[in-house]
Amino acid sequence: MEDKILKIKENALSEIEKASNSKELDEVKNKYLSRQSELNTLKKSLKDIEPSLRPKIGALTNEVSKFLEEKINTRHNEFYKKELDEKLKSEKIDVTLEGTYNPTGCVHPLTQTINEIVEIFEHLGFSIIENRLSPEVEVEKYNFDMLNVPQEHPARDVQDTYYCYGADNVVLRSHTSNAQVREMLNTKPPIKIISPGRVYRNEQVSARKNNFFHQVEGLYIDKGVTFAHLKGVLNEFISQYFGSARPTRFRNSFFPFTEPSAEIDVQCIVCHGKGCPTCSGSGWLEILGSGMVDPNVLRDAGVDPDVYSGFAFGMGVERLAMLKYAIDDIRLFFNNDERFLKQFN
Ligand SMILES: [Zn+2]
Repeated sequence: MEDKILKIKENALSEIEKASNSKELDEVKNKYLSRQSELNTLKKSLKDIEPSLRPKIGALTNEVSKFLEEKINTRHNEFYKKELDEKLKSEKIDVTLEGTYNPTGCVHPLTQTINEIVEIFEHLGFSIIENRLSPEVEVEKYNFDMLNVPQEHPARDVQDTYYCYGADNVVLRSHTSNAQVREMLNTKPPIKIISPGRVYRNEQVSARKNNFFHQVEGLYIDKGVTFAHLKGVLNEFISQYFGSARPTRFRNSFFPFTEPSAEIDVQCIVCHGKGCPTCSGSGWLEILGSGMVDPNVLRDAGVDPDVYSGFAFGMGVERLAMLKYAIDDIRLFFNNDERFLKQFN
């Protein structure tokens, strides 16, 4: 019995020596000191041996258990220290190193401008119409005919408008005014809507012109709407968009779908009316086209011009953004150059 215990001690010691890391040591500990270990089984069987031998054998098993436990603990501490050192070394962080940055996107300046315009008009009681009422690929009927644009009008020329190849009378819309027609056909007055979107013109691309750009269209139709309402709404928009009440002027103009028509200028935001290159020396910047909806347009869309009247307006989003942020080349909006886009973050 005694020999057996000493043999266990000897084996355990050799295995403790052989263990090369704390995990292996844990296995040794489990094998020799757990409740199912040989030593503990021996302890449990003490009652079966001759009573006079019990104290000696009992003491010896306890002594060996304790001895092995201490050995294992000592060894365990060595491993722990060593493994911790290795871990610290491998996970060492150099706080002086430059960090890695996660690039974050930003909302495109044109989208920001559209959102800003839309928000101002929403506060004035306008709502955005659904996309299906404002398609970019449009039949001539809604882009021209129902807007009182005569067949021979130069805007219809292929020099100005993109026609879809192989499809009769289908164009890439040249303005967002198609939304007016579709909305009038779709709902009964009162109508108070805005419609932002992309439009296409067959232009020579330059710093001032691109062959597609964005517009926001507006339409207000109700009983008793007058030119005074038009002035009030658009002056309010201009002062909110440019940040303070600014002098504006309404110039007599002509559009096929409005009568009377007015182009609206705002006092130059760069020179405050003195004259500078931005305003070509005039002191004024043209920003909006507008007018009272032509009775023919109302009638064609099923709205009785003897009962209802209204006004419409359209503005170029790029132009408004360029004026506000002093951008001198429209192509910057479409080049996807991060150095430009990040400035609007
Ligand atoms: Zn100026």
